[in-house]
Formats: sequence, C-alpha cells, structure tokens
Amino acid sequence: MRYDVAVIGAGPAGLAAAAAASDVGRSVVVFDLNARPGGQFYRHPADGRPTAGQHGWATFQRLRSRVDVVTGRPVAMVGGGPPFTVAGVTADAVVIATGAHDRVLPFPGWTLPGVLTAGGAQALWKGNRVLPGRRIVVAGTGPFLLPVAAGLARAGARVLGVFEANDPTRFARFPGALARDPGKLAEAFGYHGVLARHRVPVRNRHAVVAAHGDDRVTAVTVARVTRDWRRVPGTERRIDCDTVAVGFGFTPQIDIGVALGCATHVTPDGTLALTVDDHQRTSVPGVYAAGEVTGIGGVTLSLTEGAIAGSTRDDPRLRARRDRHRAFAAAMAAVYPVREGWLSHVRGDTLLCRCEEVDADAVAMAVDELGARDARAVKLFTRAGMGWCQGRMCGEAVACAVRARTGTDPGLAAMTRRTLAQPVRLGDLATEKELP
Ligand SMILES: Cc1cc2nc3c(=O)[nH]c(=O)nc-3n(C[C@H](O)[C@H](O)[C@H](O)COP(=O)(O)OP(=O)(O)OC[C@H]3O[C@@H](n4cnc5c(N)ncnc54)[C@H](O)[C@@H]3O)c2cc1C
Repeated sequence: MRYDVAVIGAGPAGLAAAAAASDVGRSVVVFDLNARPGGQFYRHPADGRPTAGQHGWATFQRLRSRVDVVTGRPVAMVGGGPPFTVAGVTADAVVIATGAHDRVLPFPGWTLPGVLTAGGAQALWKGNRVLPGRRIVVAGTGPFLLPVAAGLARAGARVLGVFEANDPTRFARFPGALARDPGKLAEAFGYHGVLARHRVPVRNRHAVVAAHGDDRVTAVTVARVTRDWRRVPGTERRIDCDTVAVGFGFTPQIDIGVALGCATHVTPDGTLALTVDDHQRTSVPGVYAAGEVTGIGGVTLSLTEGAIAGSTRDDPRLRARRDRHRAFAAAMAAVYPVREGWLSHVRGDTLLCRCEEVDADAVAMAVDELGARDARAVKLFTRAGMGWCQGRMCGEAVACAVRARTGTDPGLAAMTRRTLAQPVRLGDLATEKELP
C-alpha cells in the first residue's frame, strides 16, 4: 500500500498530525506498538473507559474518530526515503511521534523489585487498573510526580509522601510563562488538592537516597537535599513501604530519527531531542517530528506540534500557540533540572547499567584508569548500554557519570544510536514479507 503520510506513534502528537493530514485530503496510516492508541497521556484500560481523573478525554475521542490506527505494530526501522518504507507500507512523508520514556537515575537499591518508574506505576493503574503496591513512596523531580501520586492515592493506595528534589516555588521567577499558560497552574493546584484530601505529605528539596530490602523493597531512606541534590547530613529518615515510584522527567524516544540521520540537540533539561524547523520538519527531507521527540513539553505542546506537522498550510495562530507552550516548557526545565548531586548518593557497587550489571566503580575505572573520555568509550570498555535496553535506561546516567569525572561533553548521542528502535518479535519476522 502507498500512503501520502505514515505516522509513527498514536499519542497526542501522532493523532493530531494524522487528523490534520487527513483533514487536508492526504491518505494517512498510523502505527503504534501499543494495543490501544492514545500514547502516555490518553492511556486507558482495555474496556475503553478512561480512568478517574483522566484529562482531555473528549479531545482524544475527537481525534481518534478521525483516523485509523494500526495498533500492536512496533516500527523497528524506516527504510529509504522519500518514498519511505514503514512497517511494510510505502509513504511519501513520515511523521515521527514516538514520544518519550521515563528518565532513570540510579541510587543504592534501585534494582530491587518494588522500585519502579513513576510512569510505570501510573501505566499499571491507568492501563490495567492494577496498583503497584499498597504503601507507596513517590520521589524524583518534575510536575509528573503530582498526577502519579494523586492517581495512586485516589485509586486506594496509601501514598506515604511525594519527595521532590527541586523547589517548584522557583516557578515564581517565570511569571510570564505561568500567566500565558494558566491551565497548568490550575492543574497543579488540583493535584495538590487531591493529595491534601488523602493526607499525602509533599516535601520539596527531599530525595530518596537509598532503597532497602533483601528480595524486594521494604523501606527507603529519604533525606533533605541541597540545591545541587547532595544530602544534608543528619536529615535522613527511614520510611517503611512496599513500593517506590521514582521519576526524573522524561527522555525523548528519538531512535528512528537518529537512525534516519535527523539532526539532534541537547535540550535545556539535558536530554537529546530531534531538531525541527518552524513547520516541524527535521533535517531529513520528508521526515517530520512532533511531540515529546522534539523536547519534553507536555500534552498541549504535543497536540499543537502534531497539528502543525500534519497540516500543509502555514497557520501563524498554531505557531504562536506552540511558542507559548514551548516557553512554559523552558520554564519547567529551569525549575526541575537534574542536578549532578544525585551521583553523590550512588555507591561504588551501585549498578548504573542493570542489563549488563555495570556498577559505578567500573565506569569510574574506565575513565580514571583506562582513559575513556566519553560515553561511547565507556560503553566499549564496560558494556554499559549494550544490553537489552540498549542504553535507553542507563544512557543518560552513564553519560552524566562520565561528565562528572572528565568535566567534558560526554557525547550523549552515542548512547542513542540503535539499529532497531524496538525489539522485533519472531512472529512479526515470520509474517512480514518485507522489512521494515
Ligand atoms: C510514562 C509516561 C507517563 C506520562 N503521563 C503523563 C500524565 O499523566 N500527564 C501528563 O500531563 N503528561 C504525561 N506524560 C507526558 C506525556 O508523554 C505527554 O504529555 C504526551 O503524552 C506526549 O505525547 P506524544 O504524542 O509526544 O507522546 P506519547 O504520548 O508518548 O505517544 C507516543 C506513542 O508512540 C508509540 N511508539 C513509540 N515508539 C514506537 C515505535 N517504534 N513504533 C510504533 N509506535 C511507537 C507509543 O506506543 C506511544 O503510543 C507522560 C509521559 C510518560 C513517558
């Protein structure tokens, strides 16, 4: 089959791009690896009903009704171009809208069962109506901790505290961004209201510095931290729990763009994103990118970027809206940075790469004794980033550890280069006549 546009990812950005493209008469196909469309924000259970507290459901239904989505279909790579081959079809243009995943930062005990990402905890509840535990600590940094904690509390879990390593009152330094996007402030107040009703304490400048347990987590140590995230001695406190949900913001899922040769840049929040122009075009002709792949900015920015990517005409109002949301995203990145002090919680035997079991000492040795100067050299010396996740989970942590020792740019891009964007199932290989 030949299409005008193939969209990869049926989250807010991909759905908006597909709807905009089909509105102007283009033939569109959308692929998503999940069983249901909606991406992270509109994630919902198999019965098709939104979970309590789900925002923007009407928008999702409106977009969903306008496009056909091939679900359960991971796109591992894109061939040629233009025209491109995508999951067995041909398309003149491709929109990459593959979103983001949780950013993971290690600490002692982070590999114990019961410690999971904030996004993972939320996905269990939103997608399967399963609580990850009964007594849950939520920690890390970023506004995302609030909906996660509020959702878990509302679902019946005992949330023992939200520990935010930064200080969100610093938003007061960005009155312009807040005033232009007042909905975000109202949303945050709403979550705080839910947490207050469930008597969940919210502590700023606090971090989980260690998780404890033998065969699963049974407690955490929480400490007050400095602006740089170093623990303040004497403030440590132990909290018994059965689950820890940690989130340190998100990492754009840019594998497909990188494999196609699209230009990237380091965003203000320290992750790598696809670079786009005013019309969401990447540096590769025929390839567009929209949503979290171009930098973390939230659902409204993703929807707007998608609408621009899918449209053929220049709409100054859409571009102005996108710029407003981008200004808010820049403020968010400034308020919730990842500070290098997280490394001071890590012990020598703390795993940085769990797939290949590479600990902090091994990375230090690669730099100090073997002379590695960037993440790629450390990867070759230690195998960090060569396992099942291919550096998705450990890439930024390893790069950060290298930068802390060398003081130079660790070359984050090397940890994002992957031949396959997604694992390929044998069943897909058996049924596909032609890959990708
Ligand atoms: C785990 C998680 C939970 C989040 N929860 C919230 C929340 O509660 N509230 C909030 O405001 N923001 C949340 N966010 C932020 C959220 O990502 C954005 O606001 C919004 O969903 C981004 O839209 P998007 O379309 O760019 O990406 P996404 O919503 O992430 O959609 C990307 C889609 O691409 C698909 N995909 C990825 N790779 C491939 C591939 N190779 N082949 C086929 N399909 C692929 C994915 O399955 C997904 O459906 C969350 C982010 C994450 C990572």
